[in-house]
Amino acid sequence: MASRSCLCQLTLSGPRCTVYWYTNEIGNEFNRETMTYLRPHLLEDALQWLATERPLVMAGCTDIYPTTQSPSLAGPLLDITALESLRGISLADGWRRFGAATTWDDVLQADLPPAFRMLKQAAREIGAVQIQVSGTIGGNLCTASPAADSVPCLMALDAEVELASVSGSRRLPLAKFLTGPRQTALRPDELLVAIHVPRHAEAGLSGFAKLGARRYLVISIAMVAARLTVEDGRIASAAVSVGACAPVALRHDRLESLLVGSRPDRIESLAAEAMPMIAAALAPIDDVRASAGYRRMAAAELAWRTIGSLCVEAS
Ligand SMILES: Cc1cc2nc3c(=O)[nH]c(=O)nc-3n(C[C@H](O)[C@H](O)[C@H](O)COP(=O)(O)OP(=O)(O)OC[C@H]3O[C@@H](n4cnc5c(N)ncnc54)[C@H](O)[C@@H]3O)c2cc1C
Repeated sequence: MASRSCLCQLTLSGPRCTVYWYTNEIGNEFNRETMTYLRPHLLEDALQWLATERPLVMAGCTDIYPTTQSPSLAGPLLDITALESLRGISLADGWRRFGAATTWDDVLQADLPPAFRMLKQAAREIGAVQIQVSGTIGGNLCTASPAADSVPCLMALDAEVELASVSGSRRLPLAKFLTGPRQTALRPDELLVAIHVPRHAEAGLSGFAKLGARRYLVISIAMVAARLTVEDGRIASAAVSVGACAPVALRHDRLESLLVGSRPDRIESLAAEAMPMIAAALAPIDDVRASAGYRRMAAAELAWRTIGSLCVEAS
């Protein structure tokens, strides 16, 4: 079998880097191939390059590399990890802002109210530590996998996404951003800049549960995120979202209405009505990880257990 050798030369011009690859089959002439790699520090530069060169946006690359099936990427590439405005968690104008390039480890290290506990629980189970220090919240949303663990949590937090391009920025509720399995409303000239959570959604307790075939490095068979507020001994608001059981994670409005007004210490009396309601709202598929029937049943059980343990905590 012919082996391949390769030399590499980099030409740097500010944040633009041209990579020249010299490759050959042993005994043949070298061929020169080039690839442009952009790593801007300013959002305006990133958006300008996105508009003109249509590069592949890369953050932690934990989704990109496994899907390329190749040791190298063709380019042009836009690495967004040097954009400071895309990293970190802050508060402004009644919203909590998560920069799109905030890593799962950043989320775990942040001091956040109990309503975000579900997001932290999801972060702790995304891949392993190596994935959590590189993988980003924005990358998880843009990949738009039906099994993306952050999605049910962010839906239960009423999150909106901020998309920017050279012509301006726009905001969309997360449910409108995710249009199908691995499909989003992101235009080719747009960057996901931030995820915003309204302060009113920061109230209450929350929990996340994920079912997989093993404990670590698992793609979810089903996952549930739930948030409850309790006032005067009654559930005042509820947000429940189930993932990996429909093309896009769902909020369960009917279940939420059923829960509101109930006493957390009497929640078991609702199980017979609630669990079929959860199962009926799902549209799971059969795949290598589980059958649709198993998913439907397991998701209802997982959701009810998650709600039950929040009710015990709140009682
Ligand atoms: C071993 C392993 C285990 C994993 N386990 C889990 C798990 O348990 N749960 C889970 O949900 N995921 C898991 N993942 C998937 C992945 O780690 C996460 O989805 C992660 O959050 C992706 O972030 P990233 O920054 O690496 O994305 P990248 O790979 O850099 O990008 C993903 C996609 O989003 C686009 N993109 C990224 N950022 C932006 C932006 N700001 N604007 C526009 N487009 C953008 C990229 O072009 C690309 O198409 C796992 C992956 C691996 C390799």
